Amino acid sequence: MLKVSFLGGLGDFGKNMTVYEQDGHILVVDCGSMFPEADNPGIDLIIPDFTCLRDRVDRIAGLVLTHGHEDHIGAVPFFLRDFPVPVFATPLTMGFIEKKLSELGVNNIEKTVLEAGRSYRIGPFVVEGIPVTHSVPDAVSLIIDTPEGRVLHTGDFKLDQSPLDGRLTHYHRFHESGRDGVMALLIDSTNVEVEGMVGSESRVRKTLERYITAQRSKLFITLFSTNLMRLQTIFDLASRHGRKVALFGRSLVQNAKVGVDVGYLRIPKDTQITPEEVPRHPRGNVIVLTSGSQAEPFSALNRVAFDESKHLFIEEGDLLILSSRIIPGNEKRVARLINQVYRKGGEVITAREDRVHVSGHGAQEEIRLIASWVQPEYYIPVHGEYRQLKGNAQLACDMGFAKDKVIVSGTGEALKFEKGAFAGREEVPAGSVLIDGDTSDSVDRLVVRDRRHLSNDGIVVPIVVINRQSTRMESEPEIISRGYPYLDGGNGTADEVRKDLAALLRTLPAEEIRDSSILKAKVKSTVKKTLKRNEAKIPLIIPVVIEI
Ligand SMILES: [Zn+2]
Ligand SMILES: [Zn+2]
Repeated sequence: MLKVSFLGGLGDFGKNMTVYEQDGHILVVDCGSMFPEADNPGIDLIIPDFTCLRDRVDRIAGLVLTHGHEDHIGAVPFFLRDFPVPVFATPLTMGFIEKKLSELGVNNIEKTVLEAGRSYRIGPFVVEGIPVTHSVPDAVSLIIDTPEGRVLHTGDFKLDQSPLDGRLTHYHRFHESGRDGVMALLIDSTNVEVEGMVGSESRVRKTLERYITAQRSKLFITLFSTNLMRLQTIFDLASRHGRKVALFGRSLVQNAKVGVDVGYLRIPKDTQITPEEVPRHPRGNVIVLTSGSQAEPFSALNRVAFDESKHLFIEEGDLLILSSRIIPGNEKRVARLINQVYRKGGEVITAREDRVHVSGHGAQEEIRLIASWVQPEYYIPVHGEYRQLKGNAQLACDMGFAKDKVIVSGTGEALKFEKGAFAGREEVPAGSVLIDGDTSDSVDRLVVRDRRHLSNDGIVVPIVVINRQSTRMESEPEIISRGYPYLDGGNGTADEVRKDLAALLRTLPAEEIRDSSILKAKVKSTVKKTLKRNEAKIPLIIPVVIEI
């Protein structure tokens, strides 16, 4: 019997992970993360709960990755730390993973660079990658042959007839695999609500070229740091039009380095400059690529907009292009950033005003094309919120699939197949584990760490009450402490903390005061600094911001 379990990605957007299990032998496809919402301070990453695999590490034959987006590989180092199993990925995806593994210090993993079009035997499964176009190079769909029948797992895809890197989707392989008979198609639902075709990356190139040729002042472009094709395009255009390009932001610099190392990014000679060199060049000649397209606090773009970068800032006449999608939930933050750029005298272009971004996920016609080539027995929408899964199921029914052959599943569910036929559903343990970015520890480990910290060093809770409108303090900051002697007794440290917090609130820009995640972090670091200056022990500090 084949069991296909979904540990993430169905009904919740992000952290895609699917477990294929044939008679106890396991193949894992993708192992992604998702970003927490703004009101989860201290939590930097959410990954799937691996509980259902816990006692079966010796039964896992391998982990196969479809492509290098965080929602597919973001949890890989955490997974491999606990389950050191062989990994299969295409060259660029493997490059991204190696960087992650070395950051977390996970060694001795057996790695196989997956060559598209070749078959790999992994336990009882035979797996082949089919090249597909997407918004990161080197993406593949997977043909997974199992003893119960063939599964086609699309991963993320679109059908771009003129991709910037020239690597086309291998349409014929979908067609051939369908002709040989596919039991189940697991297909990306992200853009099922978009009619027609989603459009080619080459249209973005044309738009960007228009802005680059017309540029009179600094041009900032923010984009997803995995979109190496777009990075390449901007470098090529810059070189053609005599512009210099600076990369700003850790993820962008790192991914570009992986891209260059693996051969997926070629930086033209004499085109790249460092952020420090930007002020030395005529403003009309400089393009700055930054990460932080979701206006994350402390991201590169936020630092530029709010004058926190040493060398880069927005000046009168500068243009910022958001060459990326705004992920739902981040709209407010992005809007605040856009307003800030205008306040500085700059201008902003988003995908709403011009073709500066196109999605990496296929729309209705692209989904239909895949389905018509593959002609599966069972049609299973994956990768999307519940509404999109339902929409994709409806699209299949409209195409003529019988209702009982279209299966809408969800995270935490397994679908069973026997001798080519669907054999029922089963619940599996699934959920989220929260990861703290400073330590890369899961939060239950952190709880232990916090308790230890608390019992050894005590706790300090600085409370600031601010008026949302005026961004002024409503009253003097209050400091509550427990088990922490340094703030009691009249040595003046408590007064100093209050004074420093008041000073912080006076000097912080209004935008940062309104962003409670930024304000909390600043309050915490201010208290820490004051205590350090007074040679006090550093307690557990939990800032509280009250807005009225
Ligand atoms: Zn993707
Ligand atoms: Zn994805």
